[in-house]
Amino acid sequence: MSIAENYTTILQSISSEVTLIAVSKTHPIDAIKEVYAVGCRHFGENKVQELIQKNAALPNDIHWHMIGHLQTNKVKSIIPFIHLIHSVDSLKLLSEINKEASKINKVQDCLLEFYIAQEETKFGLSQNEAFEMLTSEQFATFKNIRIKGIMGMASFTDNAETVKAEFGQLKQLFEATKSRFYANNSSFDTISMGMSGDYKLAIEEGSTMIRVGTTIFGSRNYSTI
Ligand SMILES: *Cc1c(COP(=O)(O)O)cnc(C)c1O
Repeated sequence: MSIAENYTTILQSISSEVTLIAVSKTHPIDAIKEVYAVGCRHFGENKVQELIQKNAALPNDIHWHMIGHLQTNKVKSIIPFIHLIHSVDSLKLLSEINKEASKINKVQDCLLEFYIAQEETKFGLSQNEAFEMLTSEQFATFKNIRIKGIMGMASFTDNAETVKAEFGQLKQLFEATKSRFYANNSSFDTISMGMSGDYKLAIEEGSTMIRVGTTIFGSRNYSTI
């Protein structure tokens, strides 16, 4: 199947309530254009430099999602065009996003990245860290941030029970955060979870946004980038 057919097949298999983000990291502009041509407007990248280059080369009705770890010194360069930052994992990062967004009068949509996987390598906040952040005096001063929901990654394992339990945990973190901080706020509505190997399970567990790379574009060849 072609890249465009891969995208369309997934799109047709999921509920229209779930946003499908085509994770185009490492893949060329032409591959993105093929998926764009069949209607995709949500693309995910994890490197700032690549985001900037692709944004400049592609139509401006694309919604770009930053899904990778974001360093504070790189925030400034993506704020003008980034649609949603999935990877907020510190107050320091949020403060920088707020500062840069305020300079251009933008309210930047963000997700809090939670740590749920067993592995040590994943970034993200614990519930305590997130709640501390949301109750801090500094957070209350951020006028140019809108927290839309949460993001997380399950462990990289074939064990469906483990993955399912971790997605369930993420859904609970979403509910706990919502009831404590966003109970009357309908824009806190996003659970970004699920990738190529586990998006079906993620949707069963309540995902509203899936980030799919390999199943659309094929495998990534990091050495050519
Ligand atoms: C690369 C990446 C994805 C997509 O992974 P696939 O397994 O290729 O679908 C999703 N989320 C994040 C955070 C990623 O870095």
